[in-house]
Amino acid sequence: MDNYYNNYNNISNLLLSLDSYIIKDALENAYVIKTLITYDIDIIIKIFKNYIQQYSDINLSQIDKFTNIVSIIIDNQIFYIYCYNYSLSRYYYNSTECYFDCNLIYIKYNSNYFIFNHYSILYNEIYYRRINRKFCYLVDNFQNILFLLIRNTKISTTLKNYYISKINYAQKLILNGWIMDEYYLRDKSWTINYWINYVTKLSVIKLKNNIKNKIENKCIFCNIKFNNSDIIFNINNLYIHHKCIINKLYS
Ligand SMILES: [Zn+2]
Repeated sequence: MDNYYNNYNNISNLLLSLDSYIIKDALENAYVIKTLITYDIDIIIKIFKNYIQQYSDINLSQIDKFTNIVSIIIDNQIFYIYCYNYSLSRYYYNSTECYFDCNLIYIKYNSNYFIFNHYSILYNEIYYRRINRKFCYLVDNFQNILFLLIRNTKISTTLKNYYISKINYAQKLILNGWIMDEYYLRDKSWTINYWINYVTKLSVIKLKNNIKNKIENKCIFCNIKFNNSDIIFNINNLYIHHKCIINKLYS
């Protein structure tokens, strides 16, 4: 593993020295480095080839005009560097991950770790929330889903896809043992969690003491009683199976 850390740090430091941002995704893979680059991808490749010793192969795949993936093989390990030619704010508005507080952390040369400071949240708060595997959604834009759920009002396909991508990203964190709470938006939040966590940790999720633990234990769509290991979507006082809300959004 010694080589792994050396190689990882060498690649990161080279990127930082080129004025790039390194994105600290909560779900990042150990061999993936996501970065916002400020130089052309050709320059980045040239610098990698000149300064990374003992690499056996470096390849470039272009995903689109703004996204390239560089794969570097060193010591029989493959590192994938996702290079985005975006500004930090553009990356923020384009990506699903950034709408969750756990993904607001970046590294920059000489400024160490910092957060995208569009919200009134401090770096320390996010740091400890990540250690405790807690996260929340940041933008108050899920209100239209209530019309769909309660009144069966039609909503646009674009908006449905938007909701599906956010809900499914949150589900990945839940499957990795995270808890989604109402930390930032409070009553305007939505969350998804294992049902057992709504039953036993409702005051932690809602961030309220003395909360009445009387919550509906049946899905409003399929009317089936929840099992502890079911993943459940919650908005206001509505509780719905993850798969039922996704089906509804696809219908
Ligand atoms: Zn259901």
